Amino acid sequence: MTSTSARKLIIAIDGPAGAGKSTIASRLARKLGYVNLESGAMYRALALKAIEWDVSFDDEPALINLAHNTRIQLEPTMGGNRVLLDGRDVSQRVREPDVTEAASRVSVHPAVRQWMVARQQEMGCGGGVVMEGRDIGTKVFPAADVKVFLDADPVVREQRRLLQQNVRGAAVHAVAAELRERDRRDRTRATSPLVPASDALLLDSTTLSEDEVLQRVEELVQSKLKP
Ligand code: C5P
Repeated sequence: MTSTSARKLIIAIDGPAGAGKSTIASRLARKLGYVNLESGAMYRALALKAIEWDVSFDDEPALINLAHNTRIQLEPTMGGNRVLLDGRDVSQRVREPDVTEAASRVSVHPAVRQWMVARQQEMGCGGGVVMEGRDIGTKVFPAADVKVFLDADPVVREQRRLLQQNVRGAAVHAVAAELRERDRRDRTRATSPLVPASDALLLDSTTLSEDEVLQRVEELVQSKLKP
């Protein structure tokens, strides 16, 4: 695969937490010479600001007001996106459990989603981008060149998350319960619930290796790059 293809595609990778989106998106972006954007990091950044400014996660008007006074930047690096909140590097902080939980709560609000979607469209509209999230193929870029929905068995996703975060002992139950609750909220919210786009390639990483998933996605990308 070359990184010099003239046509710069928009590639959407959606799916629940722990399905392997980030790894696939960043490996694919590197291979193509594209930018990998983690849309979830934007929800996390706004959630962190809500925590810091003591804004209720249930107060939609206050959250959207906060968003209008917030600058969120994503800078792709080899180790995932660097996240800047009003110019401050919050990359580590936004991965902490309280922000993870808050992100899933602020993301249920339609006005917040509308604001995020507009920012994400601005960031990705030039193409040459692999954007990952929950609604990229359905709402952010419904006309994306490539759409992938990556899923995996919930138990496997939980185990991956526990390994990634090196969680042991009593904390295991709390982390597993948090993932299940976040999943439930993402899949059942009224606005843009987590569902595959009707034209997405559905991949289940329960039994596929990372290399196998990447290979299938690359095949799809190649088919779109053919003149
Ligand atoms: O992808 P990540 O786990 O960082 O996302 C954090 C939370 O942000 C998700 O649980 C989800 O509630 C929300 N999110 C979303 N739409 C996206 C990306 C993330 O609602 N496109």
